[in-house]
This record gives sequence, structure tokens and C-alpha cells, in this order.
Amino acid sequence: MNVEALARLSSFVDTDVTPLERLAHARDLWPRSTLAMVDGRLPPSPAAVSFPQHEGGLRAALDWAVAHRVPVVPWGAGSGVCGAAAGVEGALTLDLKRMNRIGQVDAATHTVRVGPGVIGQHLEDNLARQGWASRHSPSSIWCSTVGGWAASRSAGQFSSRYGKFEDMVAAMRVVAPARAYRTGRWAQGRDLGPWVLGSEGALGVISELLVRVVPLPESRWMRGYRFASVPAAWEAMRRLMQAELHPCAVRLYDPVDTRIGGRGKGVKSGGSGLLKNLVGTLDSRANLALPLSLPRLLNRLAGWGGDECVLIVGWEGQTDVAEVLARHGHGLLLEAGGFDLGAEPGDHWYAHRHDVSYKLAPIFMRGAFADTMEVACTWSRLPALDAAVRAALGEDCFVMAHYSHVYREGCAIYFTFVGRGEEDRYDRVWSRALAAAAGAGGTVCHHHGVGPHKMLAAARELAGLAPRFAELRDELDPTGILNPGRLFPPVETPEPEAPVVGVDPRSLIATLPAQQPAGERDAWLAQRGYMLRFSTDGALAASAGQPRAPWESAVLGASLHLDGKRVVLVAVPRSSAGPDPRAAFPADCYETLTVPVLPLAQHAVLVSRLAPDVRPARSTREGWELRGPAATELAALCARTEDAG
Ligand SMILES: Cc1cc2nc3c(=O)[nH]c(=O)nc-3n(C[C@H](O)[C@H](O)[C@H](O)COP(=O)(O)OP(=O)(O)OC[C@H]3O[C@@H](n4cnc5c(N)ncnc54)[C@H](O)[C@@H]3O)c2cc1C
Repeated sequence: MNVEALARLSSFVDTDVTPLERLAHARDLWPRSTLAMVDGRLPPSPAAVSFPQHEGGLRAALDWAVAHRVPVVPWGAGSGVCGAAAGVEGALTLDLKRMNRIGQVDAATHTVRVGPGVIGQHLEDNLARQGWASRHSPSSIWCSTVGGWAASRSAGQFSSRYGKFEDMVAAMRVVAPARAYRTGRWAQGRDLGPWVLGSEGALGVISELLVRVVPLPESRWMRGYRFASVPAAWEAMRRLMQAELHPCAVRLYDPVDTRIGGRGKGVKSGGSGLLKNLVGTLDSRANLALPLSLPRLLNRLAGWGGDECVLIVGWEGQTDVAEVLARHGHGLLLEAGGFDLGAEPGDHWYAHRHDVSYKLAPIFMRGAFADTMEVACTWSRLPALDAAVRAALGEDCFVMAHYSHVYREGCAIYFTFVGRGEEDRYDRVWSRALAAAAGAGGTVCHHHGVGPHKMLAAARELAGLAPRFAELRDELDPTGILNPGRLFPPVETPEPEAPVVGVDPRSLIATLPAQQPAGERDAWLAQRGYMLRFSTDGALAASAGQPRAPWESAVLGASLHLDGKRVVLVAVPRSSAGPDPRAAFPADCYETLTVPVLPLAQHAVLVSRLAPDVRPARSTREGWELRGPAATELAALCARTEDAG
């Protein structure tokens, strides 16, 4: 990059070329880069870092980069853990943190306009002063931006009630080299939103977002439960989510994580002393190498502590509604075998929910690595996915897990693992674990993004979509300057079989012919005791892309024909292996769709008006249908609202 060109860039957007600033933007928090740094190797640095303050500056910087054929890396806060914002030699990094305007909440539409560079906690603090919240609460809330959340489809600690961040984005403005465009509610013509969310800066720089907000919760109810085993707790979580009780937080810690986190007060200890010693050993530089060189033994020893585990569950919102939901949820959890540990474990988790993630550096300094992997699948596949990934990681690492993004149809698993700090070992662990996740029918990524780290695995998962992504990219970025080389490298995959048509009763989903007439489809489902959660008078394919409530996942899986080839998108509650255009194709492409269903036998009550914070299971022509054990009491609250109104 020549000095004259740089001087021109600096004349219209604040730009820094000092080594320190460039180094600070050379890498995100991908543990592989941390390993290299500890080894004394510096990552490739961008040539310059620009700090646009508004869309005009951003546009000018992009035009400049196109004119000089300079690669561009959009940068939020660099908290990504997959290398997505990592430096590209000679690139221009666009640090967006100065585009940090937060508007006034529009109380009528429950939305707020936000600049992409707003740091998460600043957004929540500002909204709280206005009486609102987004309730997006990733552990990285202090060191990540709203634009970064959208670009990598982040998930927060309250995803069970409010959804992932992509569910909270009502609209976006995006500036691409060829043109600026709008998505969602602001879209004019084709809505590219499903492609841009999760595209990690490859389809344009998000320059403004319209974010959905909720009134600040009036009250909160948190509690801990002890379960005899992880499978027993999974069953309780599944029943809780399928009973339409909408908890805000559901977090199960496996037995090892329960003990290490000190959550196991009241958990009978068969080996916590042993485990304490092992963890103590991890803290000591001198002894670290030995236990980590015997990972399988270490995992086995840790397993001797017993099977008991702790589940944290919480409800929040309008007091009367939260009280009804929490009371029924509490009853359900006790009936499912949970032992009530009281409010303390839940309140403690809530107060410390952002603490743990910032304590990893000493592990790297002691010659090891620590990393996390988040995968997800339907309830019926959960035991197989858990076992396969755990075994793959456990070959080389000490492993534990928690289950913290829990949906009606399935659950995410968040593995934490520690291994000896060697790069080839690190790569081997990951490639084995990613293959295990895909082989067990899960998504390779639930919310950490893709980056160069999971690019191949994501491309395999979304095989068949790569040509569509490339077409879009050519249209929006014809010179290919944005995050070059990503998101989908070419991969060869055999043409998949069509998914089997049928109902998965554990996950409450059905895979159905997408073009089947409504009457035939509904009769087929009714014979098996189910109905569609989102009823439609026509074929499923015609309604796949209809907007749903933000927390709802209307299409979990799809098979479709693109350019004469079958593409199968695995059925998972949420995948963020890149963008999720499952529902974004023209109706005639679809062969099957996997959608949520409801049991006909479930207790249901019809109401004509909803009290604030009450969530219906279904809308019908006659009104809203409330379902599950709390339906009658919630209907009474709705009736009271009606009388008052
Ligand atoms: C301690 C810790 C805890 C974490 N906990 C969570 C968690 O609970 N949940 C979770 O989801 N993630 C978590 N993460 C991962 C990370 O915080 C998320 O991936 C986050 O969304 C990244 O945001 P960022 O602003 O830092 O983006 P960056 O890391 O700067 O960028 C991520 C990607 O988005 C692109 N990008 C950034 N801004 C824009 C924009 N405006 N327009 C277009 N592209 C853009 C970048 O080019 C890059 O490809 C955690 C990370 C750490 C270090």
C-alpha cells in the first residue's frame, strides 16, 4: 500500500498505521492464534486500521479499497474465537466501534436503531435507562459488538426465551462495495437478511441495525436442581421446553463441570477431592504437562466423581406471568426427578454469569490450550452427539460440558476442553471433533461463528449452498475485497439422500413433503396424533419464509433442489455454520421441510387477547391457543387484561 494512497484514505476517514494498532487488529481470540503468540510468532497484520464514524466514511473507505484492490476486514471488537476477524497481510481493517449511536426505543414497535459498533453492555445499560432491554447476553457482552453479533449469529444466556441474536434483528442497513442495501423490515425487494446474518462480513459491512427489545423484566426467579444423571436432566429439560413454559435460562452442567464450578452444593461427592487435586494440578506450571499427556486417564478419573449434576433454571418478565410459569416449571422439574437446591445456585450463577470466560490466559502461559466447542441437534440425537464429540475430544484433552441453549426441538452442547499446547494436537482435536459432530447429525456450530477455523466443516454442512453464496458475493462485491477466501471454500460432497418423511416425537418435529396439499398433510399428521405448530392452508413450501415470532424456529431442516442437485440442510434447532437460508428459497425448490408439530392431546385453551408476556403456542382464526400445564392460569391472566382493556 503506497504512502500517497494511505494519505488519501486518512483525509476522509481516521486511519492509523502504527505497528501497535495494526498488531492489536491482527488477531481475534481464536485460541490457535493465542498458541502461536505464546510461541513467539506474530500473526499477519493489516496495513492500516480505519475508524469510520458514520456510513459516509465507511462508504468512502470501501470505495478507496476497491480502487486500490485492497482486502477489507470488518472488525467489531475482535472477540470472535474462530479467526473470522483475523488480520490479512496488507489489508485495511475497518474498526466499527465509533459507529456507536443508540437511538430512542420505539415503544410502539418494540425496536431501537443501533450502530454496529456498540459494545453489548453499553447497549443494555442505555436500554435499561429507557426501561427496555435486548436480553442478548453473551458471556462476551463486555467485549463484543452488536454488528459482530449479527455477523456471526451470536447466542446469549437467555436464548431459551428470547432466541439468538439473529432472531432479535428486525432489519439492517448493509454497505457492500457494489451497493448499499437493506434487509428485514427495511428491505426493498428481495430480502437478503437470511444470507447476511452469519456471513461474517463477506456480503457487506452492517452499518445500522433495528434491534427488537423487550420491557425490562419486572421480576426474575432463578433456582438450582440436582439430578441423578445427565440423561435424567436432559429429559426434564426437554419436557420443560415442550410444556410451553418458556424459561429464560436453562443450564445443565455435566458432573465434572458441576464439581469444578463449585455448583454441586448438595451433590453427594464420590470424588470431588480427587477432582479438586486435578484442577489444582492444572494451576501449577510444574505439573501441568503430566496430567495433560494422559487425557483419557484424566477423563476417567474425573468421571469417578459420580453422575449427579446441577441444572440452573430461571424465569423472568411480568411478575404475574413469570410466577405462573415458574410455579408450573418447578413442579415439572420435581416430578421429573429434580431435587430442589433452592434459589442460591441460580442467583449465584446470575450474579457471576460473565465471570469465568476471562480466566483462560494462565493456561496458555503454562504450555496448554483451553478452547470451547458448541454444537447443537434435536433432542432425539442429543445422546449420540454428546457421546461422539466427547469421545473425539477426550482422545487428546480433558473435557467437560454444559448445555445452555435449550429449545423446544433440541439443545446445544458447549464443550470446554484443555490439552497440551501444541498446534498439531490442536488441529487434530478439532478436525476429529468437527467430523464427529457432523457424523452424529448435529451442526458443527451453534453460535461461535465459522472463520477460517470451521470453514471446511461449515462448507460440508451447507454443501450445495456455496454456489448461491458465491453468486451473491459476486453481485455485491465484484472485486472480492471483503474478507477474501470466505465463507465457503469449495468442497466435494456426495449428493445426499432425501430425508425420511416422518414424525420425531421426542423433538416434536416432522419432516414432511413440502409440496403436499394441506388437507392430505394435516390428515396424515392427525392420524399420528399431531398437528402443525404453524398451520397453513397451502403446501408447506409456500409458507416456509413467513415471518414468525422472534423466538420461534419455524423451519428446522430442508431438502431442496438447486441447479438440478439435491441439497439437504440438517434438522437442528439453530445452526450458525454461516448464514441460515433454510426458509429463504422460492417455494418450488423445496422437496421436504422439517417443521415443529404439537401433540393433539396436549391441554389447550383458546383466548381472544394475550396478556403482556404470555406466549401462545399457536395462532388460529378464532384467537390464540395457549398450551401445556399453565394454559388455564395464563388464560385467566389474559381474561383479566381483556376486562381491564
Ligand atoms: C470470553 C468470550 C466469551 C464469549 N461468549 C460468547 C457467547 O456467550 N455467545 C456468543 O455467541 N459468542 C461468544 N463469544 C464469541 C464472540 O464474542 C462472538 O462471536 C461475537 O459475536 C463477536 O463479536 P465481535 O464484535 O467481537 O466481532 P469480531 O470478532 O470483531 O468479528 C466477528 C466476525 O464478524 C465480522 N464483523 C464484525 N462486525 C461486522 C459488521 N458490522 N459488519 C459485517 N461484518 C462484521 C468480522 O469481520 C468477523 O468476520 C465469546 C468470546 C469470548 C472471547
